[in-house]
Amino acid sequence: MIDYLTAFDDNYIWLIKDEQLSCVVVDPGDAEPVINWLSAHSDYHLKAILITHHHQDHTGGIAKLKDITKAAVYAPYNEVTAYDIGVRDLDSLDILSSKIKVLSSAGHTKGHVSYLLDNNLFCGDTLFAAGCGRIFEGTAAQMYASLVKLSKLPLDTKIYCAHEYTLSNLRFAAVVEPFNDAIAERIKEVSVLRKYNLPTVPSLLSEEIRTNPFLRCHLPAVRRLVAEHLGQDLSDDLAVFTALRSWKDNF
Ligand SMILES: [Zn+2]
Repeated sequence: MIDYLTAFDDNYIWLIKDEQLSCVVVDPGDAEPVINWLSAHSDYHLKAILITHHHQDHTGGIAKLKDITKAAVYAPYNEVTAYDIGVRDLDSLDILSSKIKVLSSAGHTKGHVSYLLDNNLFCGDTLFAAGCGRIFEGTAAQMYASLVKLSKLPLDTKIYCAHEYTLSNLRFAAVVEPFNDAIAERIKEVSVLRKYNLPTVPSLLSEEIRTNPFLRCHLPAVRRLVAEHLGQDLSDDLAVFTALRSWKDNF
């Protein structure tokens, strides 16, 4: 079972529970929502804190939570200092009743990782619903490789990203692909959810493949649309992705 907690303006802190009444949180940028949840669910024991990358809105709650709960902190070995267990690509973590697999997903930051538990992907600021994270430290090639890798997971994979950006991402997607009916349809669905302040995530990978332009850079139609916008030919999928990412940065 996976619950969501909200923090700041648009962050999600994912909380994963198992039948043994253990739980894990992903990217607690703020300790308070987690502490409040634990007080209201005192049967549960916070076993671990999983960190996708070093940004403060994902790590700010670590010290306080660790102090109160003694939970072990798992974080990318090469970019977060306050960890107990440094994780790297393809590690398999034995914390809850199902194993958690670590997938490196660099690009947003150099050491960003995602966590896969059954068909649930906790991908931090790499893959967003209908979008992707900004490239702060890594390269466009790293980010694109990460997105291509994640897009090859099973189609029923649920995408638990760390921010509620879906509607603004879809508005951009609709400008990139004005004739994509799946994007128009998704805007309607997501607008209703947001009207009632409900989360639009997790989404399904199959839905991302239909509506997320950053997962569609290999399609000739998308390459043509991005090239038209830019006014120049694009030689390969990575060039399409790079142009699309900088278009979005200035959108
Ligand atoms: Zn970030």
